[in-house]
Amino acid sequence: MANNSAAGIHWDLSDLFAAHDDRQIESTLVNCRSSAEKFAARFRLALENPATLTAATLREALEELARIYEALGRVGSYAGLLYAADTAKPEYQDLEQRVEQRGTEIRNLLLFFELAWLKLEDDIADKLIKDEQLKPYQHYLTSLRRYRPHTLSELEEKLLNERDNTGRNAFGRLFSEITSSLVFKLERVGKTEELNLSQILSLLHEPDRNLRQCAMETVYQELSQHGQVLTFIYDTLIQDNLTVDRLRSYPHPMAQRHLSNEIDATAVKTMMEVTERNYPLAHDYFRLKAKLLELTQLALYDQYAPVGKEVRPFAYAKAQEVILDAFEAFDAKFRALAGEFFAKNWIDAEIRKGKRGGAFCASPSPQLHPYVLCNYDDNLRDVMTIAHELGHGLHGCLSRKQNYFNYDTPLTTAETASVFGEMLVFDHLLEQQTDREVQIALLAGKIEDIFATVFRQNVLTRFEELTFSARQEKRLTPEALGQLWLRANGKYYGDAVTMPESYRWGWSYIPHFIHSRFYCYSYVFGQLLVLALYRMYKDEGKSFVPKYIALLEAGGSDTPDALLKPLGVNIHQPEFWQKGFEEIRGLTTKLQAII
Ligand SMILES: [Zn+2]
Repeated sequence: MANNSAAGIHWDLSDLFAAHDDRQIESTLVNCRSSAEKFAARFRLALENPATLTAATLREALEELARIYEALGRVGSYAGLLYAADTAKPEYQDLEQRVEQRGTEIRNLLLFFELAWLKLEDDIADKLIKDEQLKPYQHYLTSLRRYRPHTLSELEEKLLNERDNTGRNAFGRLFSEITSSLVFKLERVGKTEELNLSQILSLLHEPDRNLRQCAMETVYQELSQHGQVLTFIYDTLIQDNLTVDRLRSYPHPMAQRHLSNEIDATAVKTMMEVTERNYPLAHDYFRLKAKLLELTQLALYDQYAPVGKEVRPFAYAKAQEVILDAFEAFDAKFRALAGEFFAKNWIDAEIRKGKRGGAFCASPSPQLHPYVLCNYDDNLRDVMTIAHELGHGLHGCLSRKQNYFNYDTPLTTAETASVFGEMLVFDHLLEQQTDREVQIALLAGKIEDIFATVFRQNVLTRFEELTFSARQEKRLTPEALGQLWLRANGKYYGDAVTMPESYRWGWSYIPHFIHSRFYCYSYVFGQLLVLALYRMYKDEGKSFVPKYIALLEAGGSDTPDALLKPLGVNIHQPEFWQKGFEEIRGLTTKLQAII
């Protein structure tokens, strides 16, 4: 199986524990449990008596809480990483489940802390937050308090939680079960093939136009067969969200998401409007692509058709060299940090049976270094994947200066370092290529990736806004949802791309709509932010570097808005977001010049 160039590249987890049966694992869990019990016994009372609660006590509590979470994180990460690297091994499965269950029990003992902190009256909490002793925890304590107006009584919270299992969570499970068991029958070279959703969607990248068209029609034909149920699920969940928003006093359907993203509504509104104003940029590209494919007009199923020529095979050692060189050109520190991942075996790149698919970077806590998993298959896409995950890895390393509560970033800025890393490697790769066809493939691939993240996710968010506002009037039908979907997409594709009639089912398989509403705008935010920052790097040169490194070092110690200010970024200004589109324009102009 592992005949490619990454064979033998697997990670060394001995910094965490020696083996799955290391006695330290059990003793850590036992210690965490008794620490958590002691914590509850000691601090529950202190927090419930605000009159006697001092900043020193609260600080002590937070330090102890961080210690317990750190230790739990070490065990949890070890079990999770072992399992990801070999999901078929029963010992690893057992360990994973055991650690998860024990971890949940321990976390439940600690839950009271956040709730008790929320219960405190504003004047008491504000005084504590401002106390010098609590400075390192100021951001954490403040951001928790934002949920105070939206939190119900303990009994109400408990009821909602428990009812959710047979309510909204059950609808979510039904959706997952339906979409993951779909079978798509496709006629190909005289035979009927049976494909799952991701297999058939990947055919949209095939060179054969008929095949692409047929794949797309088959997808929507099959989805329409389940249209009644998929509509019912989505409609019910929107109503559920509207109801819970009312109970929790959220002023509008996106409010809860903005809160967890630590972003305010006006910044998001500006970003989405600027994105919409730039749809014509996409139209220009679609016309260019039609020309490349020798078509008079692009149809929806031509969007991801391959152009140019792929560089293949691309050996793992070469990937390492390209990535480290690209990082070095940015800053020597970047190369040194990324070099550690390769030298110290923090990367598992080999393709193996039983190993988890895809890629991720795990950054467990400030006390531990990150680990990267990917399935390296000797192609360029996988080089970019490593660049992406190593970007996360660098972020994870640099923000180790922060305490436990300030380590993670919200969704909106979580992808900054990863996408920035990709940009560095992409530009470096492009410079190295002399073959015109390879340059075309690289550029088109990058532009289309960016479109899928920026424009398409903006369309998805607009669609959600439309559905939530339509649901306030009446129940949603398949016809209504189809119309809203085509309306949101029509704005984007304009007259540059024709949409088939069956595309009205395009909304029906998107998991974010079901499991995490208004999640999609974070993709737009993350990608545009990086493009704009990258543009600033190109304009400012080396003076940009220390500011960028400081941003990564800051981890999640403040809101994205505040952390970005020292870089001269104002996310409320349309001009800032427009910078991202200038960078995209730069890419399309480059492509045009080559053609
Ligand atoms: Zn990522």
